[in-house]
Amino acid sequence: MFENLSERLSGVFDRLTKQGALSEEDVKTALREVRVALLEADVSLPVARDFVKAIQEKATGQAVTKSITPGQQVVKIVHDALIDTLRGSDDPGALRIDNPPAPILMVGLQGSGKTTTTAKLAKRLKERDGKRVLMASLDVNRPAAMEQLQILGTQIGVDTLPIVKGEDPVAIAKRAKTQAAMGGYDVYILDTAGRLHIDTDLIAQAAAVRDVAKPRETLLVVDGLTGQDAVNVATEFDDKIGVTGVILTRMDGDGRGGAALSMRAVTGKPIRFVGLGEKLDALETFEPERIAGRILG
Ligand code: GDP
Repeated sequence: MFENLSERLSGVFDRLTKQGALSEEDVKTALREVRVALLEADVSLPVARDFVKAIQEKATGQAVTKSITPGQQVVKIVHDALIDTLRGSDDPGALRIDNPPAPILMVGLQGSGKTTTTAKLAKRLKERDGKRVLMASLDVNRPAAMEQLQILGTQIGVDTLPIVKGEDPVAIAKRAKTQAAMGGYDVYILDTAGRLHIDTDLIAQAAAVRDVAKPRETLLVVDGLTGQDAVNVATEFDDKIGVTGVILTRMDGDGRGGAALSMRAVTGKPIRFVGLGEKLDALETFEPERIAGRILG
C-alpha cells in the first residue's frame, strides 16, 4: 500500500551525483520524500514539518559513509531522530505504584479501548508484578460498560468494586479507595466514563474524580488508528486533567503509528504501552524502535 521510504530515497539518490558529503540540495530532495512518508503514516502536518526541519539541520554536510548509500544514510538519520522523539523514558512499562493502594486513573474517549485496556493492565500488574488489583468502573451513564468491566474481571481473576446503582463517579472513586485500603490491594484502577467527543461534562467529571483519587498515574487511552485526531485528544486531556502517560490501542491494525510521534512531539508525554489485539494479554510495553520502523515503512 505504501512505498517504502528506503526504496523511495534510493530512487532519489540514484539520480543525484555521487559526492563525499550530503549537499543541501540532496538533503532537501530527500526530505521532501521523508515528509510525504510521515504524512502517509498519519503524522500531523505541523509535527512532520518541524521534524523534517530538525533533520535538515542534522543531515546537511554530513559525510557520506562509504559502506552505505546516501539514501540509506538519510533513512538512518530519520530513524534515529524518530527514536529520539518517541522515547519518553527508559522504562515506559514501570508505573509509579508504590505506597499501596496506588490509584491509577484511566481516561479517554468512548470506543478507544479504555475498558479492555483497564483489564489488560490489571492482568499484567497481577501476573507480572504480583500485585493485588481492584478495578472500578465510573461509567454511570452506561451500565453495560460497568458490567463489561465486571465480566472482564472475572475472566482474568481480578476483583471489581461491586456496582451500586445510583452512585455518582466521585462517590464510586471514594468507595474504591476505601475498599482498596481495607482489602489490602496494591493498586486500584478507576475506569472513567468515555464519550464519543470531548465535552465539558466529560472533562469536569474526570477532573472531579482526579481531585478525589489523587492518582499516581493518569493514563490516556487513545486509538492508534485515529491518526491526527489523537493529537487533539491528547492535548485536551493533558491540559484539562493532566496525563502521566499514553496507551495506544489497535496497534495490531494496519495503521502506521504516526499518532505516536505526533502525541509525543506535541504533549511530551511518554507512551507507555501499546494494545495489540482484543485478547486480554495483548498489551505490550512501548518500544520506540518498532514504531519508528512502522512509520518509515
Ligand atoms: P471503551 O469504550 O473505550 O471502553 O472501549 P472498549 O474497551 O469497550 O473497546 C472497544 C473495542 O475495541 C472492543 O471490541 C475491544 O475488544 C477493542 N479493542 C480494544 N483494544 C484493542 C486493541 O489493542 N486491538 C484491537 N484490535 N481491538 C481492541
